[in-house]
Amino acid sequence: MTIDTSTDVRRHGHRIGGAEIGEATIERRSPASGELLAVYADATSHDVDLAVRTSRAAFDSVAWQDTAHGQRADLLDELVRRLEREADHLAAIDSAEVGKPLAFAAGDVGLGIAHARQAAAIARTAAGESFPGIAARYTAIAERRAVGVVGLIVPWNFPGLITLQKLPYALAAGCAVVIKPSEFTSGSALEIARIVEESGFPAGLVNVVTGYGHTAGHELVAHPGVNYVSFTGSTRTGRAVASTAAANLTRVGLELGGKTANVVFADADLAEAAESTVFGAFANQGESCVATSRLIVDASVADELVSRVVALTRDIVVGLPDDPAADIGSLIHHAHRDSVAAAVEAAKAAGGVVEVGGAVPTAAGLQDGAFYLPTVVSHVDPDSALFQQEVFGPVLAVTTFDDEEDAVRLANATSYGLAQSLWTTDLNRALTVGRKLEAGTVWVNTCSDGSPALAFGGVKSSGYGRDGGVEGYLEFTEYRTLQVRGERRPSPFTKPGPS
Ligand code: NAD
Repeated sequence: MTIDTSTDVRRHGHRIGGAEIGEATIERRSPASGELLAVYADATSHDVDLAVRTSRAAFDSVAWQDTAHGQRADLLDELVRRLEREADHLAAIDSAEVGKPLAFAAGDVGLGIAHARQAAAIARTAAGESFPGIAARYTAIAERRAVGVVGLIVPWNFPGLITLQKLPYALAAGCAVVIKPSEFTSGSALEIARIVEESGFPAGLVNVVTGYGHTAGHELVAHPGVNYVSFTGSTRTGRAVASTAAANLTRVGLELGGKTANVVFADADLAEAAESTVFGAFANQGESCVATSRLIVDASVADELVSRVVALTRDIVVGLPDDPAADIGSLIHHAHRDSVAAAVEAAKAAGGVVEVGGAVPTAAGLQDGAFYLPTVVSHVDPDSALFQQEVFGPVLAVTTFDDEEDAVRLANATSYGLAQSLWTTDLNRALTVGRKLEAGTVWVNTCSDGSPALAFGGVKSSGYGRDGGVEGYLEFTEYRTLQVRGERRPSPFTKPGPS
């Protein structure tokens, strides 16, 4: 492979023990323009082993084991300050590598920093339980201990955000970490690991190995020195990760794909529902696990809602990541763009009607990128691939329903269960339908929303385990009890007689 040697291309080895090691050989080019952005190292099993052993040594060190919760919170507060100072730098890397607009990447990083703030608060207030009255002189303390060395495997769609949706909670719990970012977007994880060290966390507590999933990612999951793997990515890879981890009985958390429905009832505020549907479906180019990629609308208001959605979709500006006017950018690479285009063609062949989009943009300046126009397909058959499968691009599938029961059936008719959204002004319906929708997150009169205080994750093929909030912190801990008996416990085996 020929590597461009121009000086503004970032070159990075793995970050292990506070230093960069390994030769950079994996090129990352801008998906929007083809320009070479960075070259990253390709981890071998030796590199992964070194990273895990370095994390283990840092985890076992007396200095880290003796760190009080308050100290960890102070370190996380310092991390927040330093991340804030470098937020623009992190956003610029993610924007360029993912191909998303800079302002959008800045929002992602801001949410990631809010997670670090949340983790600091959890570290500061972490407590256990006591059971003083198990018997007259028998007391137990239940506490949460760090699970140990954790592997964090991150996808390409929100690289900085998803790293920060996991890492600060792992540190709050007292874990040591090895991060494996996506081969397409490794820059922000490497920078975040450096910032963690500069914040005062011991060097070697957080290590990063870059490289491919089937090699570096697989080695990390298979490593017997890893106690827990927090994985975010596709359902297909999640199944492989769970199966690899089973050999060592390594616990895993799986944040997987989704096929979120926006269920809109006739009594909803249609203007608001249309705006939210368009943002939810097309933000981040539709490359979002919670993208509201299905619109399931009451047949009596379908024409009005679809025409509003189509009008708003036409206004979306597709542009280069550094174009301040751009609402959405490029898809992650050309092969992915082709798979999105193929999904639209298959939907047309299955009877779907393309209301807007359905093509590659022809605007000047976009010819070298993996762009695709935001697309609305109506009359989508619920049994068709577009309704059932994650496209992970800017494609919205529209289907209608006749009554409430039908709406719930359609919303729950895929294998996924990450998020669902419903629109109604009837409080009773919000509660009853909301409870019937199968998902880890159900939104009423909003979508693609949330807070670092609210743990996030899926059911069904969207995985198990949670990121963020107190539940996300608990993922990085083990529950254990310390039981103290203050008087002799008579044994049933002891025979009466002289002792
Ligand atoms: P992916 O599954 O291809 O890759 C995710 C990560 O896993 C990457 O770092 C990759 O290198 C690594 N990997 C690949 N094969 C591996 C293996 N055999 N063992 C270990 N690691 C391996 O996913 P992607 O294309 O990067 O991201 C898109 C997917 O992620 C979509 O399905 C999306 O819905 C999902 N996602 C889910 C959430 C969530 O919170 N539920 C959030 C974002 C993205």
